[in-house]
Amino acid sequence: MKHPFFEVEGIIHLHSRYSDGSGEVPDIMKDAQESLLDFVIFTDHNTLRPKKDGWEGWYGNSLAVFGCELNDKNDQNHLLVVGVDDIIHKNKAATEYVTEVVDSGGVCFLAHPHEKRSTMPQYPPYPWTAWDSKDFTGIEIWNHMSDWMEGLTDENKYQRFIHPLRSLLVPPKETLAKWDELNRERLVVGIGGSDCHAIEQEVMGVTVQVFPYKVAFRAVRTHLLLEKPLSKDNSNEVNIALIVDALKKGRCFIVNHYRGAGKGFRFWFEGSKTSLFPGDRHKAGKFTAKIFSPEKRQIRLLKDGQIIFTAQESDHLVFPVSEPGVYRTELFFNETGWIYSNPITLV
Ligand SMILES: [Zn+2]
Ligand SMILES: [Zn+2]
Repeated sequence: MKHPFFEVEGIIHLHSRYSDGSGEVPDIMKDAQESLLDFVIFTDHNTLRPKKDGWEGWYGNSLAVFGCELNDKNDQNHLLVVGVDDIIHKNKAATEYVTEVVDSGGVCFLAHPHEKRSTMPQYPPYPWTAWDSKDFTGIEIWNHMSDWMEGLTDENKYQRFIHPLRSLLVPPKETLAKWDELNRERLVVGIGGSDCHAIEQEVMGVTVQVFPYKVAFRAVRTHLLLEKPLSKDNSNEVNIALIVDALKKGRCFIVNHYRGAGKGFRFWFEGSKTSLFPGDRHKAGKFTAKIFSPEKRQIRLLKDGQIIFTAQESDHLVFPVSEPGVYRTELFFNETGWIYSNPITLV
């Protein structure tokens, strides 16, 4: 079947000099163009200043979008926000700013919700603790920077600095389990985050950039399935509304780009009268789950967090489904997670 979507791919969650990143917006966008990214969603800490300064818009074929990363007064509960015009004051409880973002038409995602990193005392973990909040759009199921730091040991640190992409394996189990659990109640959208700061650090007496932007751009990407294409003929508002709409509906999937481009991946349910797409919730009934992969890989179909069918080294999977449950897919390259879809839920 023909899918009624326009696929774009980009990076969500990164920091520029407007907060604690080391790059200027135009330089980062030059890297984005060279990396063939369709969009970049900047999320500097507690500021929408770059948007107000007029940096939003096209840089070649890459669109710069400015959201922000909010935190509460104890610098906890980091929340990625997209699609709002004004900053919500930071000295609020997490549950309050989640509600404010959603009420103002924006989308928000819990950043690195189960972060545990402990290897660098100057970068403590910032897990999400305000789980009583029920309004958030979704969760960052994979955060490249946290993943990289959490696996850092004295033994592997030089390897990890030299090969910052090879160490990226799978999203945290705990986060995936929580995501599946939350989706039983309502749609909770999963996104992938970079969290690139391109921090400058001294390693063996030499100053190096930990994760230059261009390196991070080859790792965790989020692909969006838009209802209309992004266009230079559109205003920034129209293009951003298309992006926000796809994020809100869960029309997206996460790709570890280092293990393959992933463009063209599709997951859908076909029924006699209707087709369902990621993010959809529908009354249970007879459907055929279909997965198409642009490369031959291991394809897993999961229901409520459990694998129910696996196709080995295949470019497709077809499987009948009818029972209520949260269905999603994971594609693997050997032991490494490659693509994670948003769920289709039968209720
Ligand atoms: Zn954060
Ligand atoms: Zn961040």
